[in-house]
Amino acid sequence: MNNEEKVTCGALHGLTLVTMDETRRIIKNAGILWEDDRIKMIGSSTEIIKFAEERNIESQDCSGKIAFPGLVNTHTHLYQNLLKGLGTDTALESWWHKVIAPAGIHLKHSHLAAAVAGGAIEAVRSGVTTIVDYMQVHPIPNLSDSEITVMRDIGVRLVYGRGFRTTGRDSGFPAELIEQTQNVFSDVLRLKERFEKPDQMTNIWLAPAGAWALSLESLQETSEFSRQYDIPVMMHMYETDTDEIVCRKKYNTSALDYFINSGLLTNRLLAVHCVKTGEEEFKMFQKYGVQVSHNPVSNMYLASGVAPVPKMHQAGLTVSLGTDGAASNNCNDLLEVIKTTALLQKVHLIDPLAMTAQRVLEMATIDAAKCIGMEKEIGSLEVGKKADFFIVNPYRCARMCPVHDPVASLVYSGGNRAVEKVMINGRVVLNNGNFVKVDEEKVLVDEQQKANELVVQAGYFS
Ligand SMILES: [Zn+2]
Repeated sequence: MNNEEKVTCGALHGLTLVTMDETRRIIKNAGILWEDDRIKMIGSSTEIIKFAEERNIESQDCSGKIAFPGLVNTHTHLYQNLLKGLGTDTALESWWHKVIAPAGIHLKHSHLAAAVAGGAIEAVRSGVTTIVDYMQVHPIPNLSDSEITVMRDIGVRLVYGRGFRTTGRDSGFPAELIEQTQNVFSDVLRLKERFEKPDQMTNIWLAPAGAWALSLESLQETSEFSRQYDIPVMMHMYETDTDEIVCRKKYNTSALDYFINSGLLTNRLLAVHCVKTGEEEFKMFQKYGVQVSHNPVSNMYLASGVAPVPKMHQAGLTVSLGTDGAASNNCNDLLEVIKTTALLQKVHLIDPLAMTAQRVLEMATIDAAKCIGMEKEIGSLEVGKKADFFIVNPYRCARMCPVHDPVASLVYSGGNRAVEKVMINGRVVLNNGNFVKVDEEKVLVDEQQKANELVVQAGYFS
């Protein structure tokens, strides 16, 4: 165990705190003090220094630096980290068959562990402290365990979506990646038992792939299981017109009616993408309390379209941000997603006010926390909440200097180089720009080796 792990309390002062609390306070010349996993005090630098001194707690001078609540990436597929660049210039449907399925069949524990470590490192460098990962493919038993163990070791908060699909044989989808719902449910209960702890570093969710991947019966069973055990669900919805086309063809109904009939629409659902949505969908989402994850870089990469996010906001929906997998992005950088979210809506609606810097930062912090039911624990800098935050040092990063408005600076000029320190659950994960518990270069070398191995096994270049 190194020194950083032993530290259970600490303080920082001289900061600008972007709290994202109820009144969105930005406090200058301020400090933050944590004990164990929680924020114990927020105050002026003088107050923090005095309080820390009295209790013999070390307080570090952070003059000129800015603290933000940890960002929450509400949608990615970390295993796809090994596939970066392979989906170049393809559309969603062929991308699945050409890129994802061949790799999915051959995925082993060692591949997944390498992909997850690389993806987590990349995410933390962009200020992410919580990742909602949608692990789609399970060609061998207990694959999930490798991912969750790696995330716990690195110290990144994880909402793990145990992905599955139950149909697809008739359209040539590999049988190795099709599962029975009852097996998936047992696995979910096993994972909850093994990994969900009071520290809330790991939460297990259900992740049915999409309307095109499950029969109505399977989805109904999933909804019932979710209700019975109070397990939230994440699902790809309305990414393209496919949901609508499939539901019309298979069930002679609209996608919306299919979702309603399946019992899926509840406040336990995080609907991912929602590009092809309108007033009818918003009304039902609002009625049932459904949350949304918006993934603009992926939607642009796969040319899926522009999700009507301002209209979702007007309808009262809570919308968060996701990178989506590295095979359709091609990275796990949430700062890039934040900037893209604002710019895309502005140019799409020809309105510079369509998405403000403040609004988009809310989506990546407090609104994201609401989307995963953790708004009482994370998403803002407030006393009593988890000590999940990151420190930005503009003097490490020319593109961020000078700073006048810290929110605008992060959203439009922010970059990984500026992220100097990342705290998760009261533990320092990144310090002075270096990872505390992992050798970053070793992780990346391993990631490259495992990626090389996987692409050969999957036959990409044969
Ligand atoms: Zn996805």
